[in-house]
Amino acid sequence: MPSILLAEDNELNRNMLSRRLELRGFSVILATNGLEAVRMAEDSLPAIILMDMSLPEIDGWEATRRLKNNPRTAHIPVLALTAHAMPDDRHKALAAGCDDYDAKPVNFPQLLDKIGALLARRTDKSNSGTESV
Ligand code: MN
Repeated sequence: MPSILLAEDNELNRNMLSRRLELRGFSVILATNGLEAVRMAEDSLPAIILMDMSLPEIDGWEATRRLKNNPRTAHIPVLALTAHAMPDDRHKALAAGCDDYDAKPVNFPQLLDKIGALLARRTDKSNSGTESV
């Protein structure tokens, strides 16, 4: 099963979400701040990153910009998670380079759908060898 990097500073959210993902068969690695997320993504090259946007050290927006500017990690889909429900947040997340966005508290089945869609898109690309439009 694909590996997921979960960047979340809230311990309860982190534990709950990682447990639920592991029950679905994903292997989950955990980062507790933005700098750690960037470092772990580079070291582990996970299949996908779930990025809380409100993180210490550097926030999720800055961490995503760094990941997307790094050729080693630019291909990894980043799914932004934010507690803010402002319509502007989606734009802000996508502008930072996030591939998709979901609001917290997380609706787990919906989150799984979004993870599945991003992983499928990634597989399509590597199978066809061409950029999808
Ligand atoms: Mn947070």
